[in-house]
Amino acid sequence: IPALQITDLRKTYGEGFEALKGISLDVAPGDFFALLGPNGAGKSTTIGILCSLVKKTSGTVKIFGHDIDRAFSQAKQALGVVPQEFNFNMFENVLDIVVNQAGYYGLPKPLALERAEIYLKKLGLWDKRATQARGLSGGMKRRLLIARALVHEPKLLILDEPTAGVDIELRRSMWEFLREINEAGTTIILTTHYLEEAETLCRNVAIINHGELIENTSIKSLLKQL
Ligand code: ADP
Ligand code: ADP
Repeated sequence: IPALQITDLRKTYGEGFEALKGISLDVAPGDFFALLGPNGAGKSTTIGILCSLVKKTSGTVKIFGHDIDRAFSQAKQALGVVPQEFNFNMFENVLDIVVNQAGYYGLPKPLALERAEIYLKKLGLWDKRATQARGLSGGMKRRLLIARALVHEPKLLILDEPTAGVDIELRRSMWEFLREINEAGTTIILTTHYLEEAETLCRNVAIINHGELIENTSIKSLLKQL
């Protein structure tokens, strides 16, 4: 079964603006997949639908075979999302942000604490665990979003522009980290503006433009076309 299967996905905002015009897409388990497209193409809308922050107009979405409408809780458990914006409570401390997210996924407190420690250490944030989010640098906030998304150990991790505004050194270390968790078996999908990022990390790619899928191929054959 695919890690992600999107079938004829449509989204109309407001009175009739079609942000997604019938997208179909499969992502294989274990893949490292890039979703590319210019600003306004529909990437964030797609991700918003996957994590139930945006209501789709029609179409189906399955995460490891779990339909997000019919099997919401299984689909939710299988998915971790790193949003573009820092959408945590800035007055909450780093440890609580990650532990509370684990609670949202039903993890018992001792396991939540254990996992929070593992992922905060992996992302170099353990020393900051008592710091409020507002006291973190931009790069630390980005890493906190990733730790929070991994605490329930999702099989599919989706990142929306994970390295936007990040300096080159941190970008490289984030790349290395993402490659490691992909090699450990997590399927990864990321959206990016940087072709170099897709080229460095990803095996397969889809390009969306004006709400339509215009390309779905391997990175290698995409680069040959350029
Ligand atoms: P991307 O992430 O590829 O930049 P988005 O999914 O954010 O694209 O946006 C796709 C289109 O839908 C854009 O034209 C955008 O202006 C529009 N759009 C996004 N969110 C809303 C909304 N809440 N209401 C109306 N239009 C929206
Ligand atoms: P609900 O819709 O269940 O009332 P929220 O939308 O506020 O709740 O989010 C519930 C939990 O999911 C919160 O812990 C929040 O931090 C987290 N969350 C919200 N949006 C995202 C996202 N885009 N990616 C990852 N986690 C998110």
